[in-house]
Amino acid sequence: MTVRALDELVAELTEACAGTVRGGASLAELSTLRVGGPARVLVTAESDHDLAAIGQACLRHGVPWTVIGRGSNLLVSDHGWPGVAIQLGTHFRGVEIDGRSVRAGAAEKLPVLAVRVADVGLTGFAWACAVPGSLGGAVRMNAGAHGGDMAKHLVEVEIVRLRTGIRETWPASTLGLGYRSSALPDDAVVVAASLFLEAGDADTVREEIRSIRSWRRAHQPLNEPNCGSVFTNPVDGSAGRLIDEAGLKGHRQGGAQVSTRHANFIVTRGGATANDVARLIRVIQDRVRETSGVELIPEVARLGAFTGDGGVDPVAHGTGGDLPAGVDG
Ligand SMILES: Cc1cc2nc3c(=O)[nH]c(=O)nc-3n(C[C@H](O)[C@H](O)[C@H](O)COP(=O)(O)OP(=O)(O)OC[C@H]3O[C@@H](n4cnc5c(N)ncnc54)[C@H](O)[C@@H]3O)c2cc1C
Repeated sequence: MTVRALDELVAELTEACAGTVRGGASLAELSTLRVGGPARVLVTAESDHDLAAIGQACLRHGVPWTVIGRGSNLLVSDHGWPGVAIQLGTHFRGVEIDGRSVRAGAAEKLPVLAVRVADVGLTGFAWACAVPGSLGGAVRMNAGAHGGDMAKHLVEVEIVRLRTGIRETWPASTLGLGYRSSALPDDAVVVAASLFLEAGDADTVREEIRSIRSWRRAHQPLNEPNCGSVFTNPVDGSAGRLIDEAGLKGHRQGGAQVSTRHANFIVTRGGATANDVARLIRVIQDRVRETSGVELIPEVARLGAFTGDGGVDPVAHGTGGDLPAGVDG
């Protein structure tokens, strides 16, 4: 894309969208791993109309789109994202509770939602207090922990299709929710979700939240940049245990290190690159395959192109333009 074409894209989006539009915005700041390059354009969408305008602009200019939630499961390439990165603004927040039915905007933080529903005595969703994502990202990833996951509570989701700009309601059964995965189309932006929860006792759920948080503080490196579990657990196994048994706790590649506290976490230090993280992922996969014969599958979603000494194939997340369709981690 030429500088002129980029200027035109930014001007067009600024004119069409109520939300903010920034060229060359840092994505490292929006990712909990704190690595990676900038987005060509970052737009905060404040309405369905903004999302429709972004979709149309991407299609017209032949650039890819992607959605960023809280960036808590994202490995952003050092080359950044060569298209439009979309964040949902305050318009996509809000929680409505009616008995055991809950409807919330996709930009809501999952831990905030967990506390809101606990306060009215709804149970089964306490696990979400420890997952630092947005509701939209949690739907896309079918996030889960401590025996629960989104699939257990979701009734339906509202998505805006970037290709058409139309809001559609999809029942949970049509989302293809699997272990940390969904089959949402590449142009689907989750804008709201409805849940159905069990009735319980508020004090009991609050106590459950306290105990989950304290377990997490004791077992996970929460004071260092990370993206949660890097690999999904193999059937009947634990990725962390396999990595530990392969002798990799504390192993480093550049500024990326296997956490000494939890082997399925990679933490980054100042100066770390996405390539360091990608190299470390490859080293872990190779070593665990050698020691246990198990092929670990990354859970972290890659955004942008990864090439060279990272040893991984070029991949991209999102679509709508000149790059291959996305790959979820
Ligand atoms: C300390 C820590 C602990 C964690 N613990 C857990 C855990 O216990 N269980 C667990 O499942 N995960 C865990 N995670 C990972 C992460 O929080 C979840 O995967 C979460 O659901 C990601 O949400 P997000 O908003 O941050 O999404 P992002 O990381 O921003 O994006 C993840 C994917 O979702 C897509 N996406 C985001 N928002 C939308 C949207 N509105 N519409 C469509 N697609 C969207 C993105 O394009 C990307 O493909 C943890 C992460 C950290 C840092």
